[in-house]
Amino acid sequence: MICYKVSLNNKTVCLAGHSNMEAMQFSIYCSGRNIGPHTIVSANIRNSDGTSEAAEWGSCCLEIGDRVEVEIIDADTVDPPEKITSFGTRIHPTEEDELFCSFCGKSQRHAKQMIRGPAANACDECIGILYESLG
Ligand SMILES: [Zn+2]
Repeated sequence: MICYKVSLNNKTVCLAGHSNMEAMQFSIYCSGRNIGPHTIVSANIRNSDGTSEAAEWGSCCLEIGDRVEVEIIDADTVDPPEKITSFGTRIHPTEEDELFCSFCGKSQRHAKQMIRGPAANACDECIGILYESLG
């Protein structure tokens, strides 16, 4: 199966791949000068029963000067994920969790769509009005 062979400073970190893989991505993350623990490869896995899981490989702390290499290979055996998180069941919002539009006060239930922001929410209608007002 197709997998990512990830090496850090010429040392193999993982052969990341899964037989039920839907999508896999490789990423390097750093925020300013703060390079913390980071998952290098993540994948969405679709199980035969229809449930989905998120798999992760190669968690490590990257430092300045590290060389990360990714080779896409076709391997017979791959490393099992270090971490698997089930997406679980979708949580239906309760009364308390319900979002309200910060502009018109409409509830999430009565809007086609609600965009959630850190300090404010906007319903589809208000977004339409805002968009139009920008010309
Ligand atoms: Zn609104």
